[in-house]
Amino acid sequence: MKILVINCGSSSIKYKVFTLASEDVLAKGIVERIGMMGSQLTHVLLTGRNVEKKTIIEKDINDHQAALGLIVGTLLDQEYGVLTSLGDIKAVGHRVVHGGEKFSEAVMVDDHVIKSLRACSDMAPLHNPPNLLGISATQEYFPWARQIAVFDTAFHQKMPQKAYLYGLPYRIYQEYGVRRYGFHGTSHQYVAERAAVLLGQALGDLKIITCHLGNGASIAAVKNGIAVDTSMGFTPLEGLVMGTRSGNVDPAIIPYLMEKEGLSVEEVNTLLNKESGVLGLSGLSSDFRDLIIAEKQGNTRAAMALDVFAYNVVKYIGAYFMIMGGTDALVFTAGVGENSPEMRNQICSYLKFIGVEIDQVKNSVNGKETIISNSRSSYKVLIIPANEELMIAREVKKLL
Ligand code: ADP
Repeated sequence: MKILVINCGSSSIKYKVFTLASEDVLAKGIVERIGMMGSQLTHVLLTGRNVEKKTIIEKDINDHQAALGLIVGTLLDQEYGVLTSLGDIKAVGHRVVHGGEKFSEAVMVDDHVIKSLRACSDMAPLHNPPNLLGISATQEYFPWARQIAVFDTAFHQKMPQKAYLYGLPYRIYQEYGVRRYGFHGTSHQYVAERAAVLLGQALGDLKIITCHLGNGASIAAVKNGIAVDTSMGFTPLEGLVMGTRSGNVDPAIIPYLMEKEGLSVEEVNTLLNKESGVLGLSGLSSDFRDLIIAEKQGNTRAAMALDVFAYNVVKYIGAYFMIMGGTDALVFTAGVGENSPEMRNQICSYLKFIGVEIDQVKNSVNGKETIISNSRSSYKVLIIPANEELMIAREVKKLL
């Protein structure tokens, strides 16, 4: 039985086709820079773990609907596809970002679930709408297939109350469910589990700080296998400075700006979610590749944006070090975390004073599970490529 796993991010769709029983990946790919200049699909045909063929299709891709159409066409292609007909796909697993307090486990999607997810969209305006688009588009292409939603919030459900409550009147939590939920849960869980395997220790014995640094970015403190705190909150806007999201700001800035610039609620949401972060700071791009190149060419605003980003990551590392009573390992994952030696160096350079030492040869490796700290380093530092899709495939297997 084959299943398709879809991970609709804010500017990308990642997909993998699995054979359910063996968990073998037959093909995988990513559509990047959706709605931006230079969008493209990278499709990889796999045999076992070996890459058999890699295809890149450069094309204007305006929205997630168009991206999914391109993915389906590619999967059916005679030369580099893996499906003889769409009927080969029996189930589709979806990464869904925000399930509110309603969903703490994966669910089979039906009309009621769709309605509930729509109701949660105002809490994740960048994510739940593309997730829903992904679900409705796959329902059109694969109407017979079971659709299963796997939530980003699930891994963080065991966070203690002192970590998930805000300093607001308690009734706000009771009436509206306003609390920290945390996101990227499947990613934090996966990399923490893999880190334990790489370190040859039981996850239950480890304190790990997992840094998911992509267009959306979050950090989690994983103590003895439990996510005890995380940087994203009620929505995926809180925490780190991100690609286009502001992360933490003084909440008083919001009414101040609304008054000064006459902004509506929607406009201020757009400002914080889509016009801020490293894009807003640099005035150049939300894409870290663009910023790293620009910094090397002497663009001071790009350098400033990267500086602010790294600085904020380090502040959270410090906080999680304290609340866990130390740490055993620091893990980098997601687009920037996996692929940017420059950003990993920038962050780790702050940690020299506690004895963190990076092996520069190992740090030049990208997108591969590697321990990048050297043998003298006081703490282990690892790169673990994100594999949310495998975690989602396992949830699909469980529910089927
Ligand atoms: P999301 O799923 O939130 O869209 P990803 O985890 O796919 O995010 O990460 C996307 C980010 O990763 C982009 O900002 C991109 O610039 C960055 N990225 C990808 N490759 C590199 C690289 N080689 N160096 C620096 N940043 C990179």
